[in-house]
Amino acid sequence: MKIAVLGTGMVGRAIAARLAELGNDVTVGTRDVAATLARTEPDGMGNPPFSAWAAAHPAVTPAAFADAAAEAELVISATSGAASLDALHAAGAGNLAGKVVLDIANPLDFSHGVPPTLFVKDTDSLGEQIQRTFPDARVVKTLNTMNAALMANPRQLADGDHTAFVSGNDSAAKKVATELLASLGHRDIIDLGDITTARGTEMLLSVWLRLFSALGTPNFNFKIVR
Ligand code: NAP
Repeated sequence: MKIAVLGTGMVGRAIAARLAELGNDVTVGTRDVAATLARTEPDGMGNPPFSAWAAAHPAVTPAAFADAAAEAELVISATSGAASLDALHAAGAGNLAGKVVLDIANPLDFSHGVPPTLFVKDTDSLGEQIQRTFPDARVVKTLNTMNAALMANPRQLADGDHTAFVSGNDSAAKKVATELLASLGHRDIIDLGDITTARGTEMLLSVWLRLFSALGTPNFNFKIVR
């Protein structure tokens, strides 16, 4: 499948690399390709510059947000949550129309320090904001409740025996998302319902962040036992 992953951070890199490894035709979207490739310093999280990652993953093509989205059959929104709407506007509503858009970002607000708070919660969500802003896109909120490595390859932990959620208004889009997740190795995928259910999975971040602190590792996930 032709997939645009919007985002050059650790999430975009992890998911793009894995989707390419599985045989998909993957483009990574960024604001300005030349500027992104010219960065030589590690990012704020200490990850190596994108150019080093790109050199090691020649099968993945970097492109401007709009160019990546224009060519794609499916778009993954993996930018900073506070910038996701701007990045999707740059991608272009016309380039998103009719397409499945997986929103895997979180609405984190670091302006009050760490742990971050959520800039939207309880009565709305980033997933809903994206769906409202781009009504012709088929938005599915998913994968935001686990770390990037597990999103891309859940079998790294407990042979994938843990849970992923999908939220969205379009059943066919959620089926596409579920099949894509299964191709990554996700075994337990729960359809929570319409896009308003993204409120719950985004608010899980408050628990996730405290678990990260308590366990001292991001290598854990939620498992719904029933
Ligand atoms: P990030 O640092 O949160 O975001 C980097 C991306 O955001 C870059 O592609 C950057 O564009 C873009 N961006 C930043 N400011 C922008 C602006 N003003 N306009 C347009 N685009 C802008 O990356 P990340 O750590 O990989 O996280 C990506 C998302 O996944 C976040 O929402 C995060 O909360 C969520 N998430 C992360 C994890 C995890 O394990 N880290 C787990 C679950 C969910 P350029 O390429 O142009 O610089």
